[in-house]
Amino acid sequence: MDINFDLAVSNGRVYTKSGLKSIDIWIKEGRIAALGGPHRAPERIDAKGMLVLPGCIDSHVHFRDPGPTYKEDWLSGSTSAAAGGITTVIDQPNTDPRTLDRQSFELKLERARASSVVDYGINGGPGKIEELKKAGAQAIGEIFCYEHSDGELERIFAETKRQGLLATVHAEDDSIIKEMVTALSSRQDPEVHSLARPVEAEVRSIEKALAWSDHLHICHLSCGQGLNLIERARQEWTGEGNATAGPKRSANKAKMRLSCEVTPHHLLLNIGDYKKQGSFLKVNPPLRSQGDNDRLWEGLRTGSIDILASDHAPHLPEEKGEDIWEAPAGVPGVETMLPLMLYAVRRNLLCLDRLVDALATRPARIFGLAKKGAISVGKDADLVIVDPKRVVEIRADRLHSRADWTPYEGMNAILPRMTIIRGSLVWDDDLMARPGYGRFQGSQLH
Ligand SMILES: [Zn+2]
Repeated sequence: MDINFDLAVSNGRVYTKSGLKSIDIWIKEGRIAALGGPHRAPERIDAKGMLVLPGCIDSHVHFRDPGPTYKEDWLSGSTSAAAGGITTVIDQPNTDPRTLDRQSFELKLERARASSVVDYGINGGPGKIEELKKAGAQAIGEIFCYEHSDGELERIFAETKRQGLLATVHAEDDSIIKEMVTALSSRQDPEVHSLARPVEAEVRSIEKALAWSDHLHICHLSCGQGLNLIERARQEWTGEGNATAGPKRSANKAKMRLSCEVTPHHLLLNIGDYKKQGSFLKVNPPLRSQGDNDRLWEGLRTGSIDILASDHAPHLPEEKGEDIWEAPAGVPGVETMLPLMLYAVRRNLLCLDRLVDALATRPARIFGLAKKGAISVGKDADLVIVDPKRVVEIRADRLHSRADWTPYEGMNAILPRMTIIRGSLVWDDDLMARPGYGRFQGSQLH
C-alpha cells in the first residue's frame, strides 16, 4: 500500500529515538507518517549536510500580550521563537490582565489564535485554578513565591495538585529579600541586585515548596545550592536517602512529580558581567557566581536539571538602562536559546542527546504535550534544520523580538536554517507562516 505523503525531508542526519540516522522523513497531514524507505511526495526539502532535530519547546516565555505589547506581542514573540528553532512555547500568566480565571485565559487564547506563528500552551496563574484547568491551562504558574504568604502558597499548591496540575514555581523568599533591600538601599552599583536577592532567598523558598508539595516544577534554578536541594529531595522521595520529617507524601510514589529548569543566562552569565552590561542584566532570580554557572552546567549535563527554558522577558533598552533599583527585571532569550546551546554542544559543554532531551523530550513529557518532542511516527512534524558548521555571532539587529537588544551580543551561536511546524515551513531565513498559524496545545474540558 502506498500512502500519499505531502512532504519529504530528505538527505539529512535525523535525530531519532535511537540516535542520529541518515533517513528521510515522510510527512502527511502535519504528522510524521514514515521514517526511511523509498516513497514519493509532491514536495521535498533537501537537508543535505544538515542536522534535523525535533522542534524545540520553550516552556517559559513572557510574551506581554495582552498587556504591554510595545515590549512584545504574540506575533513578534512567536516570530522570534520560530527563528530560533522553537516550535512550541508556553506563555506565563503575568500579563495584563493576569491570567487568573477563565475570562482572562480566553482573552489571551484569542490573542494567540489571531497571531502566533508557533504552537503554544498557556499557563494559568494562582487564581481560579479549577476554572483554569477546564480552560486548558498547561500548568499553574509560574507562581511568584515572593508575592504570597506561606499560608497562601500552601493552599495554592494543594489546590493545584488536587486539580491534577503541575505547580511551576519562581522560588524566592520575600522576607529575606525585604531585609536585604533595606540594608543595601544606599548602594547604586548593579551588583547590588544580586546581593539583595541572595542565594539564601532561593534556597529557603525551594525548601518551603518541597515541604508543601510533591507536584512541582522549579523554574530557572540560579544556584548550586538550589540544585543540591532538588537532588536530595528526589533521593528522599524515591526512598534512596534517609526520609526526613516533612510533608505528607503521596501514597503512590509514581504520582510524585519534581522537575526543574535552567535558563541560558544562568549558565552563560554571572555577576562579573555587570561590569559590561550593568542594569541590562537585572533578572530574577539574579545572576550568581562562576561557581554557580559551573554547577548548573554539571546538573544540565547529568540530567538532574531536566530542561532548558529561556524565561524570555522582553523590555526595551531605555527601560533596562534605568538605575539598578528602577530597571525592570528580565532579559529576552527565546530566539537565542537553541543557537547558544548548539554552540555549547560544539564546545563539548553539553552532548547532543542531553540538548534534545532538555529542549524537546522532557518538556513535552513534563507539560503533557503528547504530540510533541520527538521525531517518530505519529508525532507532529515539528522539525528544526540546522547546519552545524555555520557558526555566527549573535547580533540584536538580526533578532526578531521587540526587545531590540540581547545579553548575548557578539557571542557565537548556530542559528537554525529552517523551522517546520506540523509539516509546514514556518521559518526559512524569513517568516513563511501566516499570523495565527500556531495552534493551542491545551486540552479544553468545557
Ligand atoms: Zn518567568
